[in-house]
Amino acid sequence: MTATLEIRNLHARVEGAETEILRGVNLTIRAGEIHALMGPNGSGKSTLANVLMGNPTYEVLEGEILFNGESVLEMEPDERSRAGLFLAFQYPVAIPGVTLANFLRHAINARMKAKDPDSKGISIPEFTKLMRQKMQMLGIDSTFAGRYLNDGFSGGEKKRAEVLQMAVLEPQMVILDETDSGLDIDALRIVAEGVNKLMNDQMGALVITHYQRLLNHIKPHFVHVMFAGRIVESGGPELALQLEEQGYERFRTKHLAAIEAN
Ligand code: ADP
Ligand code: MG
Repeated sequence: MTATLEIRNLHARVEGAETEILRGVNLTIRAGEIHALMGPNGSGKSTLANVLMGNPTYEVLEGEILFNGESVLEMEPDERSRAGLFLAFQYPVAIPGVTLANFLRHAINARMKAKDPDSKGISIPEFTKLMRQKMQMLGIDSTFAGRYLNDGFSGGEKKRAEVLQMAVLEPQMVILDETDSGLDIDALRIVAEGVNKLMNDQMGALVITHYQRLLNHIKPHFVHVMFAGRIVESGGPELALQLEEQGYERFRTKHLAAIEAN
């Protein structure tokens, strides 16, 4: 079965807060498709990514998130991840004393054990082979796996570690959120090239970005504009180019009533 992520009439807010941030999001992503989610700062893009992964800061008030037909709303973040959802920028913390290789082996073993409690996990030779193969494909230096996770990693190295994680865990659906602070151009390129290499017809992607520039490196099949907590327009790649030229002003005018009601 090919993977599908379905977001239906999703309403969410910060736990206990009054105002809704997501105000009825609808979006379906199928394996083989790259969707770009654009929109001005504060429109709710990162909130959507967080709600998809089950960040407990946010509460869902209404609507559904279905992954392969099953609701993920009651799943913990690690269950969602084991089910095949992957949120990049998910592990920004440094874990001193744990190498990237150890971390990845542990993640693989956790998955294997979740599927089969009797599993002994991946053998060292098998794991070594897998890592070598993935790192070669991604053009990552072999010494990189021996580094302590995120300890003194540059921005680019953090991205490289995430892309490697993606390659090893083979998620069915990846959600990439370009943080507001903005990645430097190198880091952005690493992520984009990684996604391009890993993308296949068994994997779907939601690429969240404020700027068009990420889309110079990743070619989306669909582009959506988020505004005041809703997707207000969807189209093909040409929509991203149009936004690059015209900015978000026309959405501001068109959806003023919705913004004021918020
Ligand atoms: P975007 O990623 O599109 O820039 P965000 O999802 O980060 O937008 O934010 C949408 C709105 O929700 C903003 O007004 C932001 O201040 C608010 N918001 C998001 N997360 C939190 C939070 N944890 N606490 C308080 N407000 C938040
Ligand atoms: Mg954001």
